[in-house]
Amino acid sequence: MPVRATKRGAERTPLTGDADVIVCGASFAGLTIARELAGSGADVLVLDRYEIGEKQTSACAAPTEWLERLGLAASVRQTFSDLVYHTPRASLRWTLPWPFSTFDYQGLCELLWAQAGSASFETATVSGRSAAGDGSFTVHTDRGDLTAPLVVDALGWRRVLSTAPDAIQPPDARLSRGLEVHPKGTGEDLELWLDPQYVRAGYGWSFPAQDEVRVGVGSFDPHDHVKEPTVRLAADLGVPPDGYQGNWIPHQMRDATEDGVFFAGDSAGHCLPTTAEGIRPAFYFGLACGRELRHVVEGRQTREQALQRYAEFCDDHRYAWRWLLRVQHAVGHVNPRPRAMTGILRALSHPRTVDWAFTHYGEICPPSYAR
Ligand SMILES: Cc1cc2nc3c(=O)[nH]c(=O)nc-3n(C[C@H](O)[C@H](O)[C@H](O)COP(=O)(O)OP(=O)(O)OC[C@H]3O[C@@H](n4cnc5c(N)ncnc54)[C@H](O)[C@@H]3O)c2cc1C
Repeated sequence: MPVRATKRGAERTPLTGDADVIVCGASFAGLTIARELAGSGADVLVLDRYEIGEKQTSACAAPTEWLERLGLAASVRQTFSDLVYHTPRASLRWTLPWPFSTFDYQGLCELLWAQAGSASFETATVSGRSAAGDGSFTVHTDRGDLTAPLVVDALGWRRVLSTAPDAIQPPDARLSRGLEVHPKGTGEDLELWLDPQYVRAGYGWSFPAQDEVRVGVGSFDPHDHVKEPTVRLAADLGVPPDGYQGNWIPHQMRDATEDGVFFAGDSAGHCLPTTAEGIRPAFYFGLACGRELRHVVEGRQTREQALQRYAEFCDDHRYAWRWLLRVQHAVGHVNPRPRAMTGILRALSHPRTVDWAFTHYGEICPPSYAR
């Protein structure tokens, strides 16, 4: 029986009060924002329904340089300079111009939190927000109401703090879906399966992380179920389907601000289409959001200026998301035809092409932004 770390029942004491900044969500985006506010003198409160790092939200593979630049290298479990693709007809190995690492989720979250200075943290489930009257917001939680003039939604795809009337729910929303298992095991390579026997539009993966492997299947079509193919891929790899982790994954950017509230990470659709790489963009836009907030709490700009600058920064990146969404549609169309998919992957396998493609891909949210 798993032991739940999060405080429940009587330990879930009432929580009210105010802060300068309330960051809702203590994962990649939320913790990066809190880190960026360290030393600003602001009263920063971070909320999450779970304890920090308690519930892993991804397969935890990210560009190594991002982890190093953010001071998170101690959480790295395994580093890969190659990516191995499998289709029903061939296996292809691409050597990347920059490496990926798998990391320990809890370790990484704790390292980010350790850099967040005097910020405080409370476990609370956020249910919504309302205007507090003086330009501030009240954030409603299962433990009570909290108020702040600066509020961030880093709560993931559900975009809990949005009040937009057109919020579409899955499976009709612009979301992909992914599920993985985390059995004990080892592996040498970061592997992807572009194979319609597992998923029609999407891919399977195996990401080794020292003493466990993260094996899963993602579908670009939210109507397609991924549990059975995940279990089957794990069986084909000879590992048990232990430790499920899954979620919806946004594949379209949404507005980064709404009615005075900031959105970062999956809540703003910052996960990259095609690859479903969402950690690097959550760091990147988390830094951008944190820097704008910092200028506000230090009196160097107004909240309205910060909202505008952050929204413009995010919008400047929309073209890349549109391009990657086109690639995602193309992959979805070609994947059911293994001969064509294998031919395309072979054609792209020249080292110079791989270098070019991944250099450009890496520039979408470059690690140099983490100065
Ligand atoms: C199966 C799977 C594998 C993936 N693998 C990778 C990968 O290897 N590499 C990669 O780059 N991306 C991967 N992704 C995508 C990546 O996980 C996300 O893009 C990334 O987690 C987004 O970070 P975030 O901080 O915005 O949101 P999240 O990591 O989803 O964090 C949201 C936080 O908000 C909290 N929360 C949610 N609702 C509430 C609420 N109502 N009240 C209080 N707290 C709440 C959650 O507990 C969580 O801590 C994967 C996704 C899936 C589904």
